[in-house]
Amino acid sequence: MAVGRLVSSFAARSLFFFFKLLGYFATEENSFAPTSYKTFGFHFQSLIVDLSSGYSSILALLFIFSSKLCRLEYKIKKIMASTLFRNIQTQPILLYPSVLFRRKNGALYCTMKSSSSSSTQTQTATQEKQQNPQTKVSPQTQTKGIDKRIKDYEAIIGIETHVQLSTLTKAFCGCPYNYGAQPNTSICPVCMGLPGALPVLNSKVIEFAVKLGLALNCKLSFNSKFDRKQYFYPDLPKGYQISQFDIPIASNGYVDLDLPVEFGGGHRRFGITRVHMEEDAGKLLHSGNGRYLATLSHLLQVDLNRAGVPLLEIVSEPDMRNGIEAAEYAAEIQRVVRYLGISNGNMQEGSLRCDVNVSIRPIGQSEFGTKVEIKNLNSFSSVNRAIDFEISRQVLLHSQGQGNSIVQETRLWEEGAQKTVTMRKKEGLSDYRYFPEPDLPEVILKKEYVDSIKNSLPELPEMKRRRYENMGLSMQDVLFLANDINVAKFFDATIAKGADVKLATNWIMGDIAAYMKNEKVSINDIKLSPRELAELIASIKGGTISGKIGKEILFELIEKGGTVKGLIEEKNLVQIVDPAEIEKMVDKVLSENPNQLEQYRAGKTKIQGFFAGQVMKLSKGKANPGLLNKILQQKLNASS
Ligand SMILES: [Zn+2]
Repeated sequence: MAVGRLVSSFAARSLFFFFKLLGYFATEENSFAPTSYKTFGFHFQSLIVDLSSGYSSILALLFIFSSKLCRLEYKIKKIMASTLFRNIQTQPILLYPSVLFRRKNGALYCTMKSSSSSSTQTQTATQEKQQNPQTKVSPQTQTKGIDKRIKDYEAIIGIETHVQLSTLTKAFCGCPYNYGAQPNTSICPVCMGLPGALPVLNSKVIEFAVKLGLALNCKLSFNSKFDRKQYFYPDLPKGYQISQFDIPIASNGYVDLDLPVEFGGGHRRFGITRVHMEEDAGKLLHSGNGRYLATLSHLLQVDLNRAGVPLLEIVSEPDMRNGIEAAEYAAEIQRVVRYLGISNGNMQEGSLRCDVNVSIRPIGQSEFGTKVEIKNLNSFSSVNRAIDFEISRQVLLHSQGQGNSIVQETRLWEEGAQKTVTMRKKEGLSDYRYFPEPDLPEVILKKEYVDSIKNSLPELPEMKRRRYENMGLSMQDVLFLANDINVAKFFDATIAKGADVKLATNWIMGDIAAYMKNEKVSINDIKLSPRELAELIASIKGGTISGKIGKEILFELIEKGGTVKGLIEEKNLVQIVDPAEIEKMVDKVLSENPNQLEQYRAGKTKIQGFFAGQVMKLSKGKANPGLLNKILQQKLNASS
């Protein structure tokens, strides 16, 4: 009897453990989060880490022996290892009925596939279900009278930005990283976290970190180190992330920026708490679209290409007060990393990722409110809108006496629904059990090294803006030109060729910007060179060609290249400034249009424009407009 009870208890415990293990994967992050399960008839799927399946465990054993006993070829290791990781996959529900068991928090260990419902829709459904009904705020109720209440509150916003560094190889191994490459094609034992593999620091990571630290006016730590941040997640093969904990490489800095004129303008300075180095994790690939997954439509896999790619995390002081300020701060970080050339700063590719912390407090209160983190912000406008939504949500709850239902949590911004939804409760710092990374030496910076980097820093956005401002440009012009480093370089080169500052600005912000926007190209893609733009401006200013002809030439230069002088000669576009020649044309037009001439003489003087147009047409646009109008007027008035 007792033995039987023991056996059944043991079996129950094992089962419990098994479900718990499964459940772990089911609740972490959004990737494995279950979707709704309203109706049967959907195709259920579940995820199981299937390292116990015969094929992959044999491979795993083989791999371990091969690396321990004999030095097998590197390539074979790579192939075997990637095969290993490709076996993390989903299994059909029929083989694993256990996946139907519900967990305590109401999550179901399964995902659902339905051709008719998009993933965001199903996700919303579950997340709303998990939300406390009391805390739900519909957009309608939110807008009602909220503007009035918002005035009584102050929002405190801080941002954590992850910048992916554009080094040739990863942080601790020799693998390259190319966004969009085939999954698991640039991996090695180090970035896969295989036993025995040791990290070797890429010196470029230090160089880029020092560059950013200096650009953000930070104090550098001449002695810093790497630490291990422990957490368990399928995209983190080592089970820890190499990061920096108590001694970041740079701290106590600030960034200056100018708010756009349309948002009220003004100069702002936001504090930077710290900048530290760390490595990126891999990526989970979800079923659905994508070329690679087309043939394996119901598999869920991990791609380790991104594992080990160097990141710099920039933590701001909670200095921002609204969505615009936060979005502008993020945009300035993007400009700085692009000016420095340390990252492409592309938000769509995930090279620049922002996590935002928002809390509110009644004006006059000194203690902070509960902090809510928002993730999944992949554009500056979503940073802006998500924060403004979150502020309204919290103010509404607070003003209705439901301040307690604002809890410390991570929320997701849903672009489609334009709102934030609960993702998970936030883990505390202690959960990560940091300790110094024993496989990497200390990071010691020498003064000469830092000085040489300091001397090589380019002109940064803030310096550029101040310089442009001193050139007499308006803030709108300044912000436009300094926003894109390539546009700024083009402008600077045009000015260096002697072009008039205001005229160059007008051409770049007007016709050239419009062309770039229409054709979706960057200023580096157009064939017009700064030298020719300067020449064009000089030719118009000097009267060689008219402004109208200048515009025509401009588009030809942008599309086909060539020189202004060449085009003027080739097309015989030199402006007609000879009064006698213009007079001849005016006479011709007047004699050919006797009816209109009569009307003019009868007092319909507006018709002068018609004559001017005709003469201009006759001259093929080459007549000097000022001279033309002067002669035309003389002729018209003389005859009357
Ligand atoms: Zn590697």
